[in-house]
Amino acid sequence: MPSDVDETRRHLLAGSIGLATSIYAAHGVAATATGSPTTVDVGTVAGGKVTFPAIDASTEEPGSPPPNPDIPGQRVGFAVVGLGRLALQNILPAFAQCKHARLSGLVSGDPEKMRVIAAQYGVPREACYGYNEMSRIRGNAAIQVIYVVLPNALHREAVVQAAQAGKHVLCEKPMSTSPDEAREMIEACRRADRKLMIAYRCQYEVNNRELAKRARRGDLGDIQFVDAINTQNQGDPTQWRQIKKLSGGGSLPDVGLYCLNTTRASLGEEPVEVTARIHSPEHDPRFTEVESTVSFLLRFPSGILANCASSYSLHEKRNIRVLGSKGSAEITNAFAYAGQKLHLSHRDGEAAADIELSLGVKDQFSLEMDHMALCVRNNLEPRTPGEEGLQDQILMAAIYESAQTGRPIPLRMETRRDPFRGPPLDDQNV
Ligand code: NAD
Repeated sequence: MPSDVDETRRHLLAGSIGLATSIYAAHGVAATATGSPTTVDVGTVAGGKVTFPAIDASTEEPGSPPPNPDIPGQRVGFAVVGLGRLALQNILPAFAQCKHARLSGLVSGDPEKMRVIAAQYGVPREACYGYNEMSRIRGNAAIQVIYVVLPNALHREAVVQAAQAGKHVLCEKPMSTSPDEAREMIEACRRADRKLMIAYRCQYEVNNRELAKRARRGDLGDIQFVDAINTQNQGDPTQWRQIKKLSGGGSLPDVGLYCLNTTRASLGEEPVEVTARIHSPEHDPRFTEVESTVSFLLRFPSGILANCASSYSLHEKRNIRVLGSKGSAEITNAFAYAGQKLHLSHRDGEAAADIELSLGVKDQFSLEMDHMALCVRNNLEPRTPGEEGLQDQILMAAIYESAQTGRPIPLRMETRRDPFRGPPLDDQNV
């Protein structure tokens, strides 16, 4: 039974055929001379989707299929809490590439800024809330998910309020500033029977997913070593990231977390021991409260060692390398917003093969928001639930403890694979 939408799209396609015919006529070319367009040219409409058959030779990279987004009114509505840099520069623009998620509300402490942003993105005035009005969101059925994009120390309260307002929650990383806060957030969502997902965008990014797939499949042989670095050079010492009670720490919870989380996600194992050292440049006003450079070594049950480092006083570098007995895989710009490149090295007969894979470009923020939307719609557990964030909080606390005591810190042994993650992603749920 064709839906109204199918019918509308059919009419649009029929209209475009008519238009093409009249253009031919205007140029003196009879439609019969050119022949009627076939489905190869026009495409096919079925099940509410438009598709085109492949027209390039099998030697060529196939074009991307049309995204076929859900009808706007059927997408899962998100309200974004906190209109700072990440929200305005990355998250709000990413809704334009979402297929299942849409922006339907804003929460901010700055009414003037919110008015400007609401106008830019077409958010109705009645879907704009102050921080102290979160409970009112309960009555807005267009909002199903609240996406918390505030400074780290404010995540706990916002997540608890969102769950109490009856909404599912997507929370930026790091989940919190301590394991206890993370536990409280999980419990609040559990009690309210709402989903909680932590926005680990790299677990949804295509190159990082490909590396994890190859590493877990055994393509690299026996993996024994991982090397992960995430560094950047901070500027203004007054920003909240440099104030411990708002950030919970320096480079470790902000960027070192990517080394930790991506290493765990690539291997599927959990570390059994961590050893760490911290160094901050002396007399630097940026590091009176939080640390700059953190170097930590994770030991995994299989024997794999992961050497990770983050910094707030080194020029930007964001790479991960996984080394196995048969080959290695490296992603340059692994933790950046864009620009990832996956390099694979192995022996190919007589030759040393060193190849760079090109996996296309997909916005990580759109992918993670669409994943959350599908989890809500299909009642699935997110791949990166609150428990995944809690495990990182526990590990970061152990990293700080090791740096402070100068001793290796033993960690609880986990024998299960991916013990803190939801079901694996497939192309349907990312
Ligand atoms: P930001 O400083 O640009 O924005 C923070 C927002 O919080 C601002 O709108 C600010 O007005 C608001 N705010 C409310 N109370 C505040 C207070 N007491 N102090 C300071 N700001 C306050 O920060 P951001 O870079 O957008 O980071 C927000 C969150 O997103 C953080 O948890 C951060 O770790 C995370 N983040 C994630 C990524 C990622 O790649 N996933 C990247 C950047 C930031």
